[in-house]
Amino acid sequence: MEPEGRRRVAENPDCSQQSAKETETPESPACSGNCSDTGPAGVREEGMLMRELEALVQDVVKTSSWWEQYGLDCFIIALNFLALPLGFLCLRSQSILVFALGIIILGVVHHTFTVKGSHLASHGALSKSKPWSRFWVLFFVEVCTSFTAEQGTHGHVKLHHGYTNVVGLGDSSTWKLPILNRYVYMFLAPFMIPIITPLVALGLLRKEEPRVVLRTLCLMSLGLFSHYWLLIKVSGFQSSGFALLCMFVSRGLLAHPYLHVNIFQHIGLPMFSLDKKPQRIHMMSLGVLNLPRNPILDWTFGHSIISCHVEHHLFPRLSDNMCLKVKPVVSQFLRRNQLPYNEDSYLSRFGLFLSRYEELMVQAPPITDIVGLQ
Ligand SMILES: [Zn+2]
Repeated sequence: MEPEGRRRVAENPDCSQQSAKETETPESPACSGNCSDTGPAGVREEGMLMRELEALVQDVVKTSSWWEQYGLDCFIIALNFLALPLGFLCLRSQSILVFALGIIILGVVHHTFTVKGSHLASHGALSKSKPWSRFWVLFFVEVCTSFTAEQGTHGHVKLHHGYTNVVGLGDSSTWKLPILNRYVYMFLAPFMIPIITPLVALGLLRKEEPRVVLRTLCLMSLGLFSHYWLLIKVSGFQSSGFALLCMFVSRGLLAHPYLHVNIFQHIGLPMFSLDKKPQRIHMMSLGVLNLPRNPILDWTFGHSIISCHVEHHLFPRLSDNMCLKVKPVVSQFLRRNQLPYNEDSYLSRFGLFLSRYEELMVQAPPITDIVGLQ
C-alpha cells in the first residue's frame, strides 16, 4: 500500500500540472514517486545541495570585479538621473512627439528608481557600505516610491523572501483583489497604482513609531512636491491640474507590467504551509518563475525581477548584473540535480491568468505537501 504522504503529493495538481514550463525536468523529484525515500538523509542531501550551489555561485562572485558586482547597476541608475533634466525640458515643447518623449523618459526614470532602485536598495545590493545602503533605501523607497521603508523592507525581504509561497506569509496574496473581475484587475487596476501606493503607505504608518512616521511623511512629501515643482518651474506648466495629470501618467507608464509581473512570478506555482515548508532550494526552485529577457523591463525593473527571479530568490543580495552572470551556473545546477527551473513567457502567463483568474486570484491556493523535505 502506498504511504499516505506519497498519495498526498501525487494527488496535488500543482505538482503534476504546473502551468509554467519546467525545462528539461517536467516533474520535480520532490513530487515524483521517490518522495517517501527522502527522510532525514533526504533533508541532509537538501542542505548539501544548497551548500554546493552556494559554493559555485561564490566562486563566480569572487572572480567578479566591483564594476560587475555593483558598478554596472549604479551606472544604469546614474544614467537615469542624467536623463531627468531632458525629460522635464521635453515637456516644454509644443510638439506632441517631443512632449510624448518627455513623458516616456520621466516614466522610465520613475520606474527605474521605484522598482529597480527600491528593490536592489532594500536588499542592500547597491553598495557594500551600510550607511550608503540605508541612504538609498530611504531615497528610492520613501522619496521616489512614496512608500514606507520599514514596512516595504519587512514585507519584501523578511516575509516574501523568507517565506516564499508560504500561505499567509510570503504567498503574494497582497496582490490579490478578489472583489475585482479579471478584466478590471488585469487592464484597469494598474492605472490606480500611483494613487493607491501612497495611500497604502499612509495606512501602514499607523503601526510605526512617531519618529519613523515623521521622517516618512517628510520624505514622501519631498518626492511628490519636488516632482510637481519641477513640472511647474522647469517644464513651464501653467495649470496645477495639468501638472498633476502629467505626474499620474508618467508614474503609471509601466504600472501594467509591474502588476502583472508581480503575480506571474509566484501565483499558480506550488504553495506551502508554514509547518511543512520545504528546504530553501526546493522552496525557490518550485515556487519561483523566470520570464524572458525584455530590454525595457530589464532596464526599469532589473534582471532580478524579470529573467533571473529564481537566481534572485536563491541569492537575494546579488545585484541585477550578478544575477544575470550566475544564471547559467544556477540553471545548470538545478537541471543537473533534476530540480525544477520554471520559465514561461509574459504572453503565456497573461493568457493563463485571464483564463484561470478565478482559480488563481480569487480562490485560496491548494497547498503542496512535500513529504520528507520540510
Ligand atoms: Zn527581492
